[in-house]
Amino acid sequence: MKVIIIGGGLVGSLSAVFFGQRGHEVELYEYRQDPRNTALSTGRSINLALSARGRTALRAVGLEKIVLDNAVPMRGRMIHDPRGNTSPIIYDPVYNNCIYSVGRKHLNEVLLDASDKLPNVRLNFGKKLVGVNPATGVVTLKTKEGSVEDVTGDLIVGADGAYSTVRRDLMKANPINFSQTYIDHAYLELSIPAHNNHKMVPNHLHIWPRGQFMMIALPNQDDSWTVTLFMPLTCFQSLTATSDVLGFFATHFQDAIPLIGRDNLVNTYMSNRPSNLVSIKCSKYHSGSKLIIIGDAAHAMVPFYGQGMNAGFEDCSILDDLLHNHKYSTAEALEAFSRSRNPDAEAICDLAMYNYTEMRDLVNKKTFLFRKATDNF
Ligand code: FAD
Repeated sequence: MKVIIIGGGLVGSLSAVFFGQRGHEVELYEYRQDPRNTALSTGRSINLALSARGRTALRAVGLEKIVLDNAVPMRGRMIHDPRGNTSPIIYDPVYNNCIYSVGRKHLNEVLLDASDKLPNVRLNFGKKLVGVNPATGVVTLKTKEGSVEDVTGDLIVGADGAYSTVRRDLMKANPINFSQTYIDHAYLELSIPAHNNHKMVPNHLHIWPRGQFMMIALPNQDDSWTVTLFMPLTCFQSLTATSDVLGFFATHFQDAIPLIGRDNLVNTYMSNRPSNLVSIKCSKYHSGSKLIIIGDAAHAMVPFYGQGMNAGFEDCSILDDLLHNHKYSTAEALEAFSRSRNPDAEAICDLAMYNYTEMRDLVNKKTFLFRKATDNF
């Protein structure tokens, strides 16, 4: 079977490994340049929490170990109150299960390298999908220079993210339920440099919950921390001067100022725009026997449950199982994927939305109970 994968992000590149290992001819098209040859791009989360769901999928293609070898275990939450006191909540004190902080770029590179090693997988960068015909399996691609080409596959897998072009054309050709919700909150990434990290208790996901907004920090392999500030866009817009930013942090995140560093804080805040957060649901995910969407293209979620990538990885392994079990009768397998995956995917989208309130309000809880939380933040 010739499989065309659109999108070489985390989910598309893992999907290429799954299809490649089954011996299919795979062509992956990604409109960015190869991330292995480019510097880290800003604006997307630099690190992500990998949990049981995602690990299971990585294990299925033999990549769990290499990913975990370069990940930082997070054994619990570390809550920072407004006075700078900290209190831990261990995720699993009995079995010591934990989640892992992994670098997005590193993970993407591991997955692309694994695809590249398979002789039947070809990675094509700098080619953007501009349209797909779900009935014929013809995809139209455009290069940056403007040349256009058509290629045909037996199966088209849309892993082109929350603003998916594949989904757009799937919806034109099929009756699809679709909803898209932007939340009031946006996010901005800051950082704690490695040389400033001495007060950060290692191996925890740090949270500064403040009711209407919150900040979190995940550890990086190089001992720095990636910090993400989540708050209503209107709050971001109200902090326009350096003194506003420093005053806001002094009131709400005092202990974070020396960790981030005043100059680093102000420079990063002033030179970056906050990004929006969107939740997307749709049903169904396929068209006939030739087209399927997975990952954020099928179910983008707000990041508060730490499950977007994990759920996308799970899509790859479920699709692989279904195709195998249906003996590559794609019409049946895709139908089964849409039917079985949708309730779970929408439940995770809802849990992610719910967990935002949960995380922001931790500060108002008098007692912190141990919780078995190996599958969320
Ligand atoms: P994407 O990562 O968006 O990749 C899509 C790819 O398709 C991109 O490379 C893009 O360039 C390419 N593409 C798009 N359009 C075209 C086209 N027309 N032609 C060709 N290529 C195209 N998830 C977790 O599991 N754990 C976390 O801790 C976590 N933290 C997060 C924190 C933040 C702040 C955010 C915003 C998200 C977080 N997520 C997390 C979610 C996670 O980032 C996404 O679920 C994941 O990146 C989805 O992967 P994807 O491959 O489906 O889509």
